[in-house]
Amino acid sequence: MRGPSDFQSFDDYLAAVRDLSQTVLRPNEHRLTREAGVPADLTEALKEIGLFGISIPEAYGGLECSMTEQVLLTFEFTQASCVYRSRFSTTIGLTSQAILDFGTEAQKQRYLPAMATGACTGSFALTEPDAGSDAGALKTRAERVNDGWAIFGEKRYITNAPQADVFLVMARTDPSDLTAAGVSAFLVDADTPGVSVGEPPRMLGNEGSHVCYVWFDNARVPASALVGGREGSGLKAALRGINHARLHVAATCVGQSIRLIEEMTDYARTRRQFGQPIGEFGQIQAMLADSQSEMAAARALCLECARTFDADGAIPHVAIASAKLFGSETVSRIADRAIQVLGGLGYMEDLSPIPRLARDARLFRIFEGASQVQQANIARAMLRG
Ligand SMILES: Cc1cc2nc3c(=O)[nH]c(=O)nc-3n(C[C@H](O)[C@H](O)[C@H](O)COP(=O)(O)OP(=O)(O)OC[C@H]3O[C@@H](n4cnc5c(N)ncnc54)[C@H](O)[C@@H]3O)c2cc1C
Repeated sequence: MRGPSDFQSFDDYLAAVRDLSQTVLRPNEHRLTREAGVPADLTEALKEIGLFGISIPEAYGGLECSMTEQVLLTFEFTQASCVYRSRFSTTIGLTSQAILDFGTEAQKQRYLPAMATGACTGSFALTEPDAGSDAGALKTRAERVNDGWAIFGEKRYITNAPQADVFLVMARTDPSDLTAAGVSAFLVDADTPGVSVGEPPRMLGNEGSHVCYVWFDNARVPASALVGGREGSGLKAALRGINHARLHVAATCVGQSIRLIEEMTDYARTRRQFGQPIGEFGQIQAMLADSQSEMAAARALCLECARTFDADGAIPHVAIASAKLFGSETVSRIADRAIQVLGGLGYMEDLSPIPRLARDARLFRIFEGASQVQQANIARAMLRG
């Protein structure tokens, strides 16, 4: 595995990730299918350049990139299909971060070095049929048995469930407490008897990313599986991971926007109608210019959040909500304009990447907190003053 320390500077590492994105990941996007997922050689390439470990400290074998560096890297690798990112996203922001901030030293030693190299895939199991945006309503429960716990429940829409080596599972440990304080987090190895994973369903986009139901039927784990050895901090641990991931999603929206803008600008330059390139028409120029300006604003918001994160050590929750809201709404608008600029070609699945990129982009307004949830978070903070 390589990382910034194998290069003269972070900028050289960034250039190597850009090169991987442009010369390996993009040309192989057609191989990302529901059946194949992210093929083994491409997963190896992601591991080899260290992307599973960008946020994990060097002490645990990771690259220990600052949040600003993580965001700059994300702008690059998400100019290729965002399905590549989904292969390691559940390990970096969501699962490893919760272990890092809330786990015991033994849990950190056991999981983080393997996660940093990509040898261990973490999968984040919070959402349930009756607990989506309202994650605190979760019903999965963990009961004390002998010297451990038995877990019962149903999780859904869990990314990388078939690839997972360990699930971070949020479960209610105090059935009398229906608030967040009744929820704890557990590290459940995927091969634990009683854990089963459903077939990946067909989705609107993100083909190659596997997002499944996961069932826990009397899944027995030792006491040491309770994150931090403490009951009641499960939703806090989840939120720590989610806020990290939200900023990564905002940065992903920027990377995907850059790609869409590149595709539509190239087309506007070369496609001729009425005796001239369509890029000469003012209405096409307006779509290009609006897209570029909105992407630049989304990029600046991400960097501003990342710098605050790095400077304060505190998580700028509300600013991250704005970056996620603005970035995800922006990339959807840009995807729609890209279809328009390409005309009929923008509607042809087999002839252009634009339909696929547009379908992929629709997800960003739904997961890691839907747009309405971000709006509510921002507005509540404003009203609180
Ligand atoms: C491809 C994909 C991958 C995912 N990966 C994971 C994963 O790895 N792990 C995991 O735990 N989860 C995962 N999820 C789940 C995802 O986080 C949830 O889908 C999301 O939080 C929304 O929950 P829901 O689908 O139940 O929608 P609901 O919460 O039922 O929302 C339905 C609609 O109601 C709106 N709404 C809800 N509450 C409010 C409110 N208070 N005010 C205004 N409007 C509201 C929503 O914005 C939305 O428009 C994934 C989802 C998808 C689609």
